[in-house]
Amino acid sequence: MRVTLLGTGDATGMPAALCDCEYCEQSAPRRRPAVLVESGDTTVVLDIGPDLVDQLQQTETYQVDAFFLTHFHRDHADGLLGLLQTLRSGTETAWNGAGDAHSFDLHMTETATDHLRDSFDYFLDLLEPTWSPTGVSIGELEISPFAVEHMRPEYETVGFVVREGDRAIAYAPDMESFVDEPPATDIDLFVCEGSPFVGLNHGPADELSAAIAKLDADRTVLVNASEHARREHTHELEKNAQAAGAELGADFEEYTIQ
Ligand SMILES: [Zn+2]
Ligand SMILES: [Zn+2]
Repeated sequence: MRVTLLGTGDATGMPAALCDCEYCEQSAPRRRPAVLVESGDTTVVLDIGPDLVDQLQQTETYQVDAFFLTHFHRDHADGLLGLLQTLRSGTETAWNGAGDAHSFDLHMTETATDHLRDSFDYFLDLLEPTWSPTGVSIGELEISPFAVEHMRPEYETVGFVVREGDRAIAYAPDMESFVDEPPATDIDLFVCEGSPFVGLNHGPADELSAAIAKLDADRTVLVNASEHARREHTHELEKNAQAAGAELGADFEEYTIQ
């Protein structure tokens, strides 16, 4: 499977709005966290933040089988508006009567669906979110959620393991630790919360370090990074990531897992 980091930034994103600091000026852009996973004809996207349209266009992704949401914080969920409007207006071919409008599945916890209902209930009719706590199979991919500590219980935050045969990646952009045991011990690539090391601190560094060590992935790549928030340049963030036994993520970096 091919994994592309669609975004490696924090809620602010980089450059930050209205900011001309040297860190925003000299660093590569960081969009809000999301990951694209492709396997054969199957495409899934993990997280649906406000940069979604840009992220899909930059990677020339025009067909997605399913979107998965980690939690209903706006920096992970605000791309839902773009998806909804696309469904509402139909595609160009649909307008011409020459093809079908896009369709995709949307997987989010019932708690996240409740948050969506509270803020924009009209989204639910078209987006029709569903949730399976044990995961789903799409093509060759198996996608299963695992519970993480991050603003629980109000936000029932999860990460996802995506498996193709005996290969697996894990994605948990906002987490302090696992709620239970680590979801697997054979993870090839862990796209992981990195804010205690490379961004604005979400939680204690020692707890997160312990969780990363427990999962023991072959490679751990940190997201939720921000040169702007830390007032540190990219090479300093890279050093911080290395000290944490990990690597610093960059937008649109690709990993082939086979
Ligand atoms: Zn800045
Ligand atoms: Zn969050």
